[in-house]
Amino acid sequence: MHTEVDLIVVGAGPAGLEAALLAARARLRVRVVDLGRDDASLRRNGRAVLAEGTVGLDHVAPSEVRARARESLERHGVHVELGEVTDVGRRDDGVLAVTIADGARSEVVTTRRVLLASGLVDVLPPLPGLAETWGVSSFSCPYCHGYERSGEAARTGRWGVLAHEVGALKTAPLYTRWAREVVLFTDGLEPPRELRAAHEAADLRYETAVVRALRHDEDRLEAVVLEGDREVALDVLVHRPPRTRGALIERLGLAVDPQGLVVVDGRTETSMKGVHACGDLTTTPHQIVFALADGAHAAMAIASSIAFEDTLGRR
Ligand SMILES: Cc1cc2nc3c(=O)[nH]c(=O)nc-3n(C[C@H](O)[C@H](O)[C@H](O)COP(=O)(O)OP(=O)(O)OC[C@H]3O[C@@H](n4cnc5c(N)ncnc54)[C@H](O)[C@@H]3O)c2cc1C
Repeated sequence: MHTEVDLIVVGAGPAGLEAALLAARARLRVRVVDLGRDDASLRRNGRAVLAEGTVGLDHVAPSEVRARARESLERHGVHVELGEVTDVGRRDDGVLAVTIADGARSEVVTTRRVLLASGLVDVLPPLPGLAETWGVSSFSCPYCHGYERSGEAARTGRWGVLAHEVGALKTAPLYTRWAREVVLFTDGLEPPRELRAAHEAADLRYETAVVRALRHDEDRLEAVVLEGDREVALDVLVHRPPRTRGALIERLGLAVDPQGLVVVDGRTETSMKGVHACGDLTTTPHQIVFALADGAHAAMAIASSIAFEDTLGRR
């Protein structure tokens, strides 16, 4: 069955870039398409100044991580293309056809496999100050940015958790790894009585008043402003916003789990045959190191399924 390429990777974040590298090294014909290269607004960690916690890449700007990755790919003859994958369909002869749009132009490319590495998008609530501090002093992952706001660098030693659901309240004890004091902001939500009692017995403090805004100096959080203009000074606010999967994933109608992650089998294949997925889209925790590993896993599974198909006629 003739196709123009073996694999189209959708998304050049850590997962897609690592997958493309290993696929190229397995001598697959690979194309990688990404919405925005270094446009920070088009990347999950785009607002973070530095990416932390990956050995060898710790404290490096996310755009630098991507630039280094693209260099590795160029060495294997793979270029990251600007464009948006808008559809993946199967032709009557069974070949996968991928639509790539670039401005007013669009092309359809045939391929044996597709790898969706398009990540998730955080939908921040319209709380003044949250977007401005996001990825530096307000964030969802303490392992990513907690270290820099703790220890000797701490101003108040106090962290807050903006919790709009009970699950978020339950994570509070974790933050004592970095903070001397933890305050749970429920923004009007009444916390379960037993949970609150257990937390307060462990010196975790509750503020149930409505949160009006965050006071900040550029990307540095200074205080949470509550109704009545009462302020609580803080170094960090942890918040886990809702996430969306992007228009392409919705269009394909892939199976998703109760957490909203795309369901894949042990070989990273989704509910659509020949279409694989990896990275934040399918896995937690959400960190670069997991996305890299997941991308590597997907590339190996795809290379092996193509090799088996070519030699044995089945995967
Ligand atoms: C604020 C913040 C800070 C973070 N800081 C850290 C940190 O310090 N250390 C760490 O380890 N982790 C950090 N993370 C987590 C980390 O960024 C993610 O786990 C990681 O980026 C996931 O990689 P990915 O490749 O799955 O997806 P992404 O990095 O989100 O990449 C997906 C790519 O797909 C592209 N795309 C989407 N749809 C399409 C389409 N239809 N066609 C073409 N391209 C498309 C997007 O433009 C994007 O470039 C942070 C996350 C956030 C939100």
